Amino acid sequence: MALYKTDLLILGSGPAGYTAGIYAARAGLSTMIVSGNQEGGQLTMTSSIENFPGFEEISGFELMEKMKQQALKLNVQFVNDSIVEVDFARRPFECSSENGHSYQARAVIVATGSSAKWLNLPSEKKYLGYGVSACATCDGFFYRGKTVAVIGGGNSAVSEALYLATLANKVILVHRRHQLRADKILQDKIFNNKKIVPEWDCVVEEVLGEDNPRKVTGLKIRNVVSDEVKTLDVDGVFVAVGHQPNTDIFKGNLILDSKGYIVTHENSSATDIEGVFAAGDVKDPKYKQAVISAGSGAMAAMDAIEYLDVE
Ligand code: NAP
Repeated sequence: MALYKTDLLILGSGPAGYTAGIYAARAGLSTMIVSGNQEGGQLTMTSSIENFPGFEEISGFELMEKMKQQALKLNVQFVNDSIVEVDFARRPFECSSENGHSYQARAVIVATGSSAKWLNLPSEKKYLGYGVSACATCDGFFYRGKTVAVIGGGNSAVSEALYLATLANKVILVHRRHQLRADKILQDKIFNNKKIVPEWDCVVEEVLGEDNPRKVTGLKIRNVVSDEVKTLDVDGVFVAVGHQPNTDIFKGNLILDSKGYIVTHENSSATDIEGVFAAGDVKDPKYKQAVISAGSGAMAAMDAIEYLDVE
């Protein structure tokens, strides 16, 4: 069990966290990033990014590794650990981790991002890890030559479907409406991909499978217009129905909105607690883009630098 002390503690290692680290270290602050339980954040689960300026195409993992190396080169301290409790009532602020360590800091930037949402069906839970997944880059490999379903109609669902179509024989995109929410450029790609077949206006009723060994064999879906129920034969189900902010540990410590996002002052990363700032998806119910998270991280670092200068 260790006690770490730093000027600025950054919680989270996505684009917001690393960018904040890069800016703070360049301003001469002793800066420490605590990774969270998924080093590099959600982007590491994205196979291909084509909208981060400067990179025509790069994998999420590679982009995050580049950000990490840039931060380390500037002497940002990086700890692979996850914070489970925060005490923002005392000064310096104190955060305790699942490994039993304590982190004390004069200022904190919360950049804990968001996590994939689930359909919340008992059968989804039963087959999670046995054919149900929320990460095509992690698990797509197992479906080479097989049939999979992707649930959702946003950028995540369409990106997952496109990636899976490079491995699987057939990808069924199950969406609850007849219109996708995904960017037009991604929509064009799936409509031109013969391996991807949409099932419009359909919701998932149940994931079907076998017990011995446990595996997915199908999906029961219901058409919300006709009420028709049918079964699709699939070997895997990828759920991509949006994200929710990772703010459980901040409940009661910071002001959150009705969906759990951290509320910051207008045009600022400042939270209701002086010296605690928020950046990236954890405070962004709308845009959720890597490049915006990075910008938001820079903004939080600049706010923290200013706060520590005058403190
Ligand atoms: P999203 O844009 O919120 O889309 C979620 C999708 O899931 C929607 O189509 C929604 O349907 C559907 N959905 C939600 N709850 C559902 C339920 N219970 N049952 C069935 N379907 C449900 O979330 P996202 O795709 O995860 O994207 C999140 C953010 O990340 C967005 O800002 C997105 O642009 C960004 N992102 C960008 C890229 C990229 O630029 N390449 C890649 C991935 C994500 P409705 O449409 O009917 O609401």
